[in-house]
Amino acid sequence: MGKDSVLSEQTRKGLLVSVSGPSGVGKGSVIDKVRERIPDIAHSVSVTTRPIRDNEIEGVSYFFRTEEQFKDMMAQGEILEHDIYLNNYYGTPLTPLLKLINEGRDVLFDLTVSGSLALMENYKDAVTIFLLPPSMSELRKRLVLRATEAPEVIERRLLEASVEIPKADLFNYAVINDDLNKAADRIIAIIEAEKHRYARQIGIEERILGR
Ligand code: 5GP
Repeated sequence: MGKDSVLSEQTRKGLLVSVSGPSGVGKGSVIDKVRERIPDIAHSVSVTTRPIRDNEIEGVSYFFRTEEQFKDMMAQGEILEHDIYLNNYYGTPLTPLLKLINEGRDVLFDLTVSGSLALMENYKDAVTIFLLPPSMSELRKRLVLRATEAPEVIERRLLEASVEIPKADLFNYAVINDDLNKAADRIIAIIEAEKHRYARQIGIEERILGR
């Protein structure tokens, strides 16, 4: 069965929710907060060619693979979407995702901007959220405070952000991360509202009426 046919059958099952945003916006912290508050939401574990970090666990944080292995997976149609970020490949593996979808689970994705757009192409019902900084000066402040990058890299990130932010109009939702808890609250509210769309609960009235 092709991935399109498998995915398109899922409109009345779990939600696929992806969060993207420019580097430094605080996406990782907001996603962690959402996961903490909705423990049932599954995490799509991506495949990456970047080196494993100290606090990371194979198969939990990512599936860490060589570039050759990654390209093999792509050739076998095992990668739903992929992107290159800082010279490393990142991609969503299809088989574990289909398993989660078939179990009716809600799945949260942490993707690059183009990753979310590709997810939407494959799965029209995906809920895409663009996380925005309150302002460019605040984004600069956060990148400087993070102190993980050299000044010229920070400038490059800000330039990338100015190219990515105009793509917010291609997403379903735009959420400003002015405060970690408030941004998480907003995303949780979006997930709750999306679950209550009639289109995701077709036949609910029949079930209530016992027909
Ligand atoms: P990090 O190396 O910091 O874990 O992630 C770098 C970037 O890759 C983040 O912006 C994250 O959202 C993105 N990313 C992680 N997994 C995937 C994936 O499967 N597909 C795409 N398109 N982006 C990903």
